[in-house]
Amino acid sequence: MKRVLVIGGGASGLMAAIAAAEQGAKVTLLERNRQVGKKLLVTGNGRCNLTNLDQELSHYRGGEPGFAAAVLREFSLPETWYFFERLGICIRNRNGYLYPYSDQASSVADVLRMEAEHLGVKLALGNQVLELRAVGEMEGNSRTERSSGTVQNSMPRFEARTESWTYEGDACVLAAGSAAAPATGSDGSGYALAKSLGHRIIKPLPALVALRCRERFFERLAGLRMEASVRILADGKELARDWGEVQFTKTGISGIPVFQVSRYAVRALDEGRRVEARLNLLPQLEGEASPIEGSAGKPRAAECGPGLEYFFQKRLQSGGYKTGEQFLTGLFPGKMSLCLLERAGIPKGKRAADWSREELQGLLRLIRDFRTEITAGGSFEQAQVCSGGVDTAQICPQTMESRIVPGFYLAGEAVDIDGACGGYNLQWAWSSGYVAGLHAAGQAAT
Ligand SMILES: Cc1cc2nc3c(=O)[nH]c(=O)nc-3n(C[C@H](O)[C@H](O)[C@H](O)COP(=O)(O)OP(=O)(O)OC[C@H]3O[C@@H](n4cnc5c(N)ncnc54)[C@H](O)[C@@H]3O)c2cc1C
Repeated sequence: MKRVLVIGGGASGLMAAIAAAEQGAKVTLLERNRQVGKKLLVTGNGRCNLTNLDQELSHYRGGEPGFAAAVLREFSLPETWYFFERLGICIRNRNGYLYPYSDQASSVADVLRMEAEHLGVKLALGNQVLELRAVGEMEGNSRTERSSGTVQNSMPRFEARTESWTYEGDACVLAAGSAAAPATGSDGSGYALAKSLGHRIIKPLPALVALRCRERFFERLAGLRMEASVRILADGKELARDWGEVQFTKTGISGIPVFQVSRYAVRALDEGRRVEARLNLLPQLEGEASPIEGSAGKPRAAECGPGLEYFFQKRLQSGGYKTGEQFLTGLFPGKMSLCLLERAGIPKGKRAADWSREELQGLLRLIRDFRTEITAGGSFEQAQVCSGGVDTAQICPQTMESRIVPGFYLAGEAVDIDGACGGYNLQWAWSSGYVAGLHAAGQAAT
């Protein structure tokens, strides 16, 4: 019988196992945890945002931007929706963000496990793969990269050694995840397994994380949540921007728009570049309605007012008698007003009508361009995903098969693709997992 080994029982591994078993393969899934789908349980705050209606390609990032698009064409959003409905998951649509109707991430993990068991997948739980070998005819071949997507070399078979047993397969899918959120099982050991077969690993770094800032005033801003746009610049060059509710913490900035741009900040820091975040604290009043590249949240044109200067002039006409703190009341939370006035050098208690032109301009500059130096991103423990992973140049996107080891497939976060917040990481896991499993079964059959 055709034997497929799947390493990792997360979203992509379960998907690969089901797809391979549906093709009639004999599938063994090796998972180091005592349960499958542990990370799935914590997704979407326990509700699992399993995909998104907006499949704009800028939501998928990596060294080779077109790679994810090619894989998503093979197993797309409608196929994912249909797949989950077939497994019993009714879909709840929240402004394009799709969840299981039960609002329970556990139901997604459950239906995947039930389907895998139903199809006869052997779930070998508590089995960490310590070593992976491609043996047989492959051993004679040099591990040179092939440019075509089609594998022509003779087929090796695979041996996955765990502490208690060595499992054999005619094909193998590596779906061991990344190094993010290791408490769920993904400890980064999958990278070493891919590397041992000759694959190049793009340095994994935390993504979808909060950012640490240099300035001390964040201690006083901790707990604030404000609508703002966030731009990330490295050595003065803009890398990414987003818009939404920014959260201020004791050490810096967080919240969905910060998560969205964090992978760019973290990678730039790792390259030794000077990284800065620039926030517009009143983006609705500015001309920030232009389309924002790679952005999940965009200010709508209708929300753009006549501009910050005009808005402040009008406010001064009626509120010029107020002190700075009073003048900003109703516009910003008190802690932010104090911080802005202090950074703008406006003396406490000075009436707004008495502000010099420079003082007013300084304040407006801060509101539309609140700058902070980024010193670090969150840790792997805090990250939802990783950027980096197995180099996509070594993988065929139509099959997810390695271009250097025939019969070896990759799926999910182990690969150098990371998605934005909003269901894109799971969509990547579903699509890449399905494609890998399908072709691993086909490959094993030849
Ligand atoms: C808090 C949190 C919330 C999230 N929310 C969302 C969301 O709502 N929507 C979304 O799209 N994405 C979300 N994500 C991201 C998403 O969960 C992941 O991108 C996705 O689960 C990755 O799937 P995977 O199969 O590649 O890896 P994983 O799910 O990490 O699975 C890998 C599996 O392999 C096992 N394994 C690792 N090494 C070995 C080994 N050597 N031998 C055997 N087994 C091994 C691990 O134990 C693990 O079970 C969230 C992530 C986190 C941490």
